[in-house]
Amino acid sequence: MKKENKKIIILLCLVVLFIGIVISFLFIFLSKKEIKIADIIKNKNEENVEIYDEENKESELKEADLKPVSYNAVIPMYMYHWVREDTGNYEYPEMMAKPSEIKKQFEYLSSNNYDTIFITDIDKIYDYKKPIALTFDDGWADVYNNVFPYAKEYNIKISMYVIIDLIGTPGYCTVDELKEMRDSGLVEIESHTMSHRMLATLSRDEIYKELDESKKYIKDTLGIDTTVICYPSGSFNNTVIEIAKELGYKYGLAMDGGVHYTSKTDNMQMTRIFATRSMSLNTFINYASNARVDVKWE
Ligand SMILES: [Zn+2]
Repeated sequence: MKKENKKIIILLCLVVLFIGIVISFLFIFLSKKEIKIADIIKNKNEENVEIYDEENKESELKEADLKPVSYNAVIPMYMYHWVREDTGNYEYPEMMAKPSEIKKQFEYLSSNNYDTIFITDIDKIYDYKKPIALTFDDGWADVYNNVFPYAKEYNIKISMYVIIDLIGTPGYCTVDELKEMRDSGLVEIESHTMSHRMLATLSRDEIYKELDESKKYIKDTLGIDTTVICYPSGSFNNTVIEIAKELGYKYGLAMDGGVHYTSKTDNMQMTRIFATRSMSLNTFINYASNARVDVKWE
C-alpha cells in the first residue's frame, strides 16, 4: 500500500470517528433536552392541577363561609284581584286593574332589571337586588286570561292565592288552568283558605280547618307544598298566626300597609300595596323604586 493511501484511510477513520463523536454528543444533548421539555410539561401540568385545586378550595370556602348574617329587604308587594278592561256593574271597580296597565307595569319591571320574586323566594332574598312581588288574590280566571300571557311575554313571576271552594266555579280558574300556570314556572299558587271567611272572626277549630284543608288540597291537587297563607280580607290575629305556623306556613300576607320592610314586620304579617284600577304607571314606578336588599355577610 502506498503511503498516500494509508494517509487517506487514517484520515477517513478520523473523520468517521469525529462524525461518530459528534452524533453521540448530539444524541446525548437532545435526549437530555427532551427530558427537560418533558419535565417542563409535567411541571406545568402539576402547576395547573395545583391552581385548579386552589380555585376549587377557594370557591368551596366561599360557599361554606360566606353566609348572610342578616339582611334588610324592602319589597314592594303589589296586591291585585280582578284584571279586566270592563268593570261592568261591579260595586268596587277600583279592585279591577286594567290588562293594558298590567302590560305597561310588566314591561317597565322587565326593562329596568327588577327581580320579580315568588313569596317563597324570600327564603333566599339575599340573592336578589331589586325584589318585587306581584300577588293576585282569590284565583280569578282573569289571572289566567289577562295576566298570564304578559307574565310569559315579559318573563315575570307572579303569585296567586286560590279560594279552594271556588276553584272551577264560574269566573274562577279551573284546576287545569292552575296546572298550566304552575308548569310555566312563572306562577306560584298558594292558599287563600277554603271558603274566604275572615279568619280572625272564627273559632280555633274553624281556623285550623281553613288552613289545614286548603294546604292539603293544594298538595294533593297541584303537588305544591304551600307555605304562604294570604289572609282573606286581611283578617288575622295571633291565634291565626300561631295555627298557621303550626301547620307549616312560613309567610302570611296582609291586605294593606304599603311597601313591605322586613325590618318592620315579620314574615307572617307582610304588608302589601293595593294596586288599584286608577294607580298610574308613575305611582307604580315610585313604589317599585323602593326595592332593595342590604345583606351583611359573615
Ligand atoms: Zn280575597
